[in-house]
Amino acid sequence: MLNNMDKIISKNPATLEVLAELNKTPNEQLNDIFQNARTAQAHWSQVPLKKRAKKLLDLRETLINHKDELVDLIVKENGKPQFEALVAEVYACVEVLTYIAKKSPKALRDKPLSISNPLLKHKKSYLNYWPVGVVAIISPWNYPLLLPFSEIAMAITSGNGVVFKPSEITPLIGLKIQELIEESGFPKNLVQTVIGDGATGAAIIEQKPNKIFFTGSVATGKKIMAQASKTLTPVCLELGGKDAMIVLPDANLEFATSAALWGGFSNSGQTCASTERLYLHDTIYEPFLEKLKTKIASLRQGRTQSAFNNDLSVTTDPNQTTVYQEHLDDAKKKGAHFIHGGKLDKEANLMSPTIVAGDSIETCKVYQEETFGPVIAVTKFKSVSEAIEKANNSPYGLLASVITNNTSLGEEIAKQLEVGSVLVNEVLYTAGVPETPWGGVKNSGIGIKHSELGLHEFVQVRHIHTNRFKNLLFKSFWWFPYSNFQTQTFSKLFELYRKSWIDKAKALPMFLWNVAQMIKKEPRI
Ligand code: NAD
Repeated sequence: MLNNMDKIISKNPATLEVLAELNKTPNEQLNDIFQNARTAQAHWSQVPLKKRAKKLLDLRETLINHKDELVDLIVKENGKPQFEALVAEVYACVEVLTYIAKKSPKALRDKPLSISNPLLKHKKSYLNYWPVGVVAIISPWNYPLLLPFSEIAMAITSGNGVVFKPSEITPLIGLKIQELIEESGFPKNLVQTVIGDGATGAAIIEQKPNKIFFTGSVATGKKIMAQASKTLTPVCLELGGKDAMIVLPDANLEFATSAALWGGFSNSGQTCASTERLYLHDTIYEPFLEKLKTKIASLRQGRTQSAFNNDLSVTTDPNQTTVYQEHLDDAKKKGAHFIHGGKLDKEANLMSPTIVAGDSIETCKVYQEETFGPVIAVTKFKSVSEAIEKANNSPYGLLASVITNNTSLGEEIAKQLEVGSVLVNEVLYTAGVPETPWGGVKNSGIGIKHSELGLHEFVQVRHIHTNRFKNLLFKSFWWFPYSNFQTQTFSKLFELYRKSWIDKAKALPMFLWNVAQMIKKEPRI
């Protein structure tokens, strides 16, 4: 929906109505934007952490006040069903803010380290966290509120400033986030929203943000990392997925088919963690697919936007329909079996929910590459080890699901899957559970979002080492001048590391005596 060089045009993907024509932020303004963010951040970082965290509750209040308006805007600009806009976007943000406000004061306070070396008992060390600086947050269109909102919230609570670029497909939602932040009384310029496309994103990186938080495709992630490497700018990349669901023979088929249905088709399959590969045990293959087919047929798909009467809606980014069509054409060409769907209604901008299987399926793009649409590629397995091997045989590693009545076996399988998250008897949704980490391995990304680990992405760690007792100051045992006595003391130190407690106990008095002598010989400075 990007158009001429200076404009970004926001359109309703269901009606193609133009919602707004926005001026792109000129690249020449970026330097000032970063300067202003740096000034605001320098002051903000001096505000005590607890106070910064508490301020998030004002933002939560503002968000709740604007809930209905936000849902309407998301439905209009992104096209997702109203229920998903309410729950997977706005409500998920409320949860994120609640978690960060509560967790960050604990997660980011100084953390003592314990030092076991017997020569260092008078010393103490701790970790001290400090903000990264001004971070760039570059976001996609599929969860246009939740994804940037949670990163902005984590960034500012940790004391950072933010330059945020929403997707060119959903710029109005980006601007709405900016409004909510301003209305909540955060300092001017602490968060600034830049409107533009990929070229604007690249220009933001030219400004040397202190860290880049990017969510989007693998291809763009690689470009960003290459560009960031020139200035050694750290990156956190949340990229694409090709997520597997393994269904074991003991699974309840009613439950398992509903899980696959929602995992594959919520947000019309436009979710990084969508179930795109389904592994069914040989013995349940036929009945499972029969049931799934019936359930797909009952899904309601349409362009109606204002009521809770659709399960699947339109494609947000028209470019995505090209990938969908290309993957389906490829599957047809390779003789895959279409169990359901496989139709693109270009005029209505609807990708039909599709299940593809057959002997050639593993050679098809629908099985190997991210479709980012409502398509599930199905294959069979005979043994658990075969299922694990197949699921792991992918360049992606975001999330996987295991469906079984045997939870311990499910967890055992989980521990062998090469992904960032495994959900046993669940599917897809933990990006909305802020206590849990979100991130991928392999091509699915670098770094973690949410949870305590995610908060730590927004800070740098400083190690502080000091004396435990302020009046006990003496030269360290290894400082100049070197002496025979010093060497002997260190030789005795080795005896304290013996396995036997008797050997240790024998060495201890002599060692302590030597240490005392050294302190006496090298008195306080
Ligand atoms: P995209 O990579 O096309 O664009 C994402 C953002 O990057 C947009 O704001 C875009 O303007 C910007 N951009 C494009 N080129 C750039 C460049 N060279 N430098 C800087 N910025 C640039 O992705 P998309 O189509 O918006 O989103 C879909 C993809 O995002 C899918 O692959 C999906 O799996 C992935 N995704 C991943 C997660 C996750 O948490 N892992 C979440 C949502 C979406």
